[in-house]
Amino acid sequence: MSRLHISKLYQEIYKRFDALTPVPFDCGALCGKLCCEGDAESGMYLFPGEKKLFVGKDNFSVLSTDFIVGGKAVDLVTCHGPCKREERPLSCRIFPLIPFYRKGSTLEIIHDPRASFCPLTHPEAADCIDEAFIREVRRTFELLIKIPAVANYLDALSYVLDDYQKLNRW
Ligand code: SF4
Ligand code: SF4
Repeated sequence: MSRLHISKLYQEIYKRFDALTPVPFDCGALCGKLCCEGDAESGMYLFPGEKKLFVGKDNFSVLSTDFIVGGKAVDLVTCHGPCKREERPLSCRIFPLIPFYRKGSTLEIIHDPRASFCPLTHPEAADCIDEAFIREVRRTFELLIKIPAVANYLDALSYVLDDYQKLNRW
């Protein structure tokens, strides 16, 4: 699939999450929008092929990271102030969920272990995330893992997630 097609695919996927949210109310009111408290150097990893949609875009900067997958640095997007919902990258749209996928294994949709600050991932909020939201995240990644670059990225990311899961258990 060409980069052009991947961009279009992400734009279609974004639409699925324009109105769909992890819970059917503004969870930002619970926590003061903790997940949007990034700074100039903290942000969200971009999925392979997503970068093109954020380079040069107002309110966003794209940075290279030292997370290398297939010989290439994974990109990070940072935002400068509140964004418009329809401009969010995929990581923000699926937060606080994340696909856990190792090549040759089955796809799982889990609470992102890097999101332990998010009240929706806390044990007392177990099962509060909307089933329709979880289904859409699963449907999205069942599609995206068919793209080799995304499968490779998720395979590498699964080791990072594993490390966070271990840290969270300490
Ligand atoms: S940190 Fe969690 S609860 Fe707070 S706004 Fe983000 S998703 Fe909602
Ligand atoms: S892009 Fe939007 S949703 Fe994502 S962290 Fe920034 S302000 Fe929050």
